[in-house]
Amino acid sequence: MQVSVDRDRCCSSGLCASNAPEIFDQDEQDGRVMLRQTVFLPVQFADIRLAGELCPCGAITVTEGISPADEAADGTADQTTDQTAEQTAEQTAGQATKQTAEQTAESADAQPGTGR
Ligand code: SF4
Repeated sequence: MQVSVDRDRCCSSGLCASNAPEIFDQDEQDGRVMLRQTVFLPVQFADIRLAGELCPCGAITVTEGISPADEAADGTADQTTDQTAEQTAEQTAGQATKQTAEQTAESADAQPGTGR
């Protein structure tokens, strides 16, 4: 999701800052809209859409879609996390197998009468 604001169209109603204060603010000088963030989390999308719909001056443009920054916050990041978890599990399993083989070899060495 991408959000842009047109300060020239903004009539300083403050609705956006009231509905989504994490995202929108008003300039202390002229009361016009200012974006507080440039990267948005999926949990914020509903508030952003509502602010765009309620703006009486059409000063907020919301463009749906995935930007590179959004990928980190949605399913793509989950896939990466899942892959990392799987790789870690495989590596751990491999280490455990190697350790067990080494321990078995050491036990065989330590046992008397094995001929070693
Ligand atoms: S809701 Fe629209 S007009 Fe009101 S402050 Fe925000 S951008 Fe400006």
